[in-house]
Amino acid sequence: MSQIRKHYFMDEYCIIAPRRNKRPSDYADSIFEKKTSECVFCEGYEDNTPPATAVYKNEEILQDTDNSRIKNWGIRCFPNRYPALSSKSERPSDTISTTMEGYGFHEVIVETPKHSHKVSNFSDDEIMLFMKAYQDRVTYYQSLEKIAYVSLFKNEGQKAGASIAHAHSQLIALPFIPPELKREVEVIKASETCPYCNIIVEECGGPRLLYHNEEFIVIAPYFSKVPYELWILPQRHINHISDFTEDMLGLLGDAIIFSLSSINNILKEVPYNYMFYQLQDDPKYHFNLRIQPVTSIAAGFEKNTGIYINTMPPENAVQQLKNNIS
Ligand SMILES: [Zn+2]
Ligand SMILES: [Zn+2]
Repeated sequence: MSQIRKHYFMDEYCIIAPRRNKRPSDYADSIFEKKTSECVFCEGYEDNTPPATAVYKNEEILQDTDNSRIKNWGIRCFPNRYPALSSKSERPSDTISTTMEGYGFHEVIVETPKHSHKVSNFSDDEIMLFMKAYQDRVTYYQSLEKIAYVSLFKNEGQKAGASIAHAHSQLIALPFIPPELKREVEVIKASETCPYCNIIVEECGGPRLLYHNEEFIVIAPYFSKVPYELWILPQRHINHISDFTEDMLGLLGDAIIFSLSSINNILKEVPYNYMFYQLQDDPKYHFNLRIQPVTSIAAGFEKNTGIYINTMPPENAVQQLKNNIS
């Protein structure tokens, strides 16, 4: 049973999620799961995963039952077999007061039935379905009682934390708003105008602008923590994906594909993470999506200070990315 534990005296949290049958050698060998020969995310292996909570198939959203699995799907969502949080958590009774129950949800979103298919090669229909699934799943979890924040993210490649190569995203629904986001909200609340809207005005037409369409811009932010970091921002002030129109979802998909393809063009199959930043209940927040290629790991200095050393100025990164657009 997992627990959410708060720092002794700071507004910081960790999740303790014990996994049975894990031995010390499992940690010593590798942080990743042992590779099995069969991929359980592939079509045809649906029986090897928990029943799907949402299956996107021919314009419909269906659900598996305990004993039967839907086949021939486009996108498939199911609970993580090793969830960080659980809806069945109980309040801990014998721990210090800064511990709360590990209540929440942890879902896997398998983005395609095909094993080697990647988002950067998705067709218009595929990316549309993918963005709709993001919108649906986040909106669903956000509507649940006791859920305050839904973290939606993608880890691609082992070095980015993905234990399975098949394209997938994850969603963790939390019973509280993460402190980092809360701090950001306080700053935004104290600002006269939206800081993200200001960034858009500042960066449009500048050396860090990589791409724009009718709704979104992609920039290498002035404050780039890692080489080739990219932010996708809606040009309109909008706080959450649940408010996106169908057109916006398609254009968000285009911006994601453009960004990932540009990065791939110069860094080949570089591992990356992307993370959604959004708050449904706070109209002052401005949706943004951050893509961070993994070219090095956070080491002692970063862990000690929270300050990142980035050897690639974002202005140069954009220049290189633009020069290599195919
Ligand atoms: Zn697969
Ligand atoms: Zn704004």
